[in-house]
Amino acid sequence: MKQPLLEVNNLKKYYRQKSGWFGKSKDYVKAVDNVSFSVAQGETFGLVGESGCGKSTTGRTILQLTPATSGEIKFDGVDVSKLSREDIRQKRKHMQMVFQDPYASLNPRMTVYDILEEPLRAHRIGSAQERRQTIERMIEVVGLTKRHIGRYTHEFSGGQRQRIVIARSLILKPKFIVADEPVSALDVSIQSQILNLLQDLQDQFQLTYLFISHDLSVVRHLCNRVAVMYLGNIVEIGEVETLYTEPLHPYTRALLSAIPVADPQVKRERVILQGDVPSPTNPPSGCPFSTRCPEVRDVCRQIKPALTAIADQERRVACHLYHDPTGKDVTMP
Ligand code: ADP
Ligand code: MG
Repeated sequence: MKQPLLEVNNLKKYYRQKSGWFGKSKDYVKAVDNVSFSVAQGETFGLVGESGCGKSTTGRTILQLTPATSGEIKFDGVDVSKLSREDIRQKRKHMQMVFQDPYASLNPRMTVYDILEEPLRAHRIGSAQERRQTIERMIEVVGLTKRHIGRYTHEFSGGQRQRIVIARSLILKPKFIVADEPVSALDVSIQSQILNLLQDLQDQFQLTYLFISHDLSVVRHLCNRVAVMYLGNIVEIGEVETLYTEPLHPYTRALLSAIPVADPQVKRERVILQGDVPSPTNPPSGCPFSTRCPEVRDVCRQIKPALTAIADQERRVACHLYHDPTGKDVTMP
């Protein structure tokens, strides 16, 4: 693998939850529970899983929008979780986020110009004239025109607003973008336009993406590698093509079986998962998926399987079907 731009090691994010009498009970929501992965320079790394599994929290913690409970977040070789506020502010020039909802993430009282100028001003970049040039250039890069910049965001469609959000995230020339469900709030007809734009921008600016989505078909077309999350854990990581054609973890198989297959020759058995996702406040002991897994065994309820390499380091799965908990590898089925 190429030089990693981002390395996440044993990341945990627990939210304190006030409950019980007078909010005294110490419950924790284990939103992200011991997650490790790395993203290579220029790569698009996908993070998929059902709603509530900890994808956004992972992204927000990496960008230090919320502090990690523990773990290491190395960006360009520096652990950003250990930086001072000012250093984080400086680092943030290189790491930006595109949020899901372009309606909520743009201030309706600001013009496009003000929205794009704000980050430049905050970092004291350029003279007023230079900032104007940068903004005019950027608005065209994302497929809008100069005449749009004096307008307010309510005058735009959802797709156009997401272009403005993307322009804002790029204005400081970052290297790394966390795109958190960037097309989930958009009409299907608009989604591919925005995905194509993200791909063009990646080539143009040598961007590295962490692409978060609950939609596995979106991820397949965009990502090089993908990690599947369940209840705050990564259960499987691999190259997109191998993971989609030969999913190993029973959860990945179930997720993929729910996507319609275009080719009628390909028969895929639909796996219907029983029960609901358990609460991250009180996750099951052993494997987090054990309460819903069609292939659960006794060991799964007792010992949490580690995310372990299968063929090579690129392909890892956390499942007792593939690893004997005593440490001996089980042969592949
Ligand atoms: P996803 O993006 O995969 O849908 P999130 O990262 O948003 O999942 O949430 C993971 C878990 O953490 C959920 O159970 C959610 O309710 C909880 N959570 C997220 N943010 C907070 C917060 N600020 N305080 C308490 N719990 C939170
Ligand atoms: Mg989310």
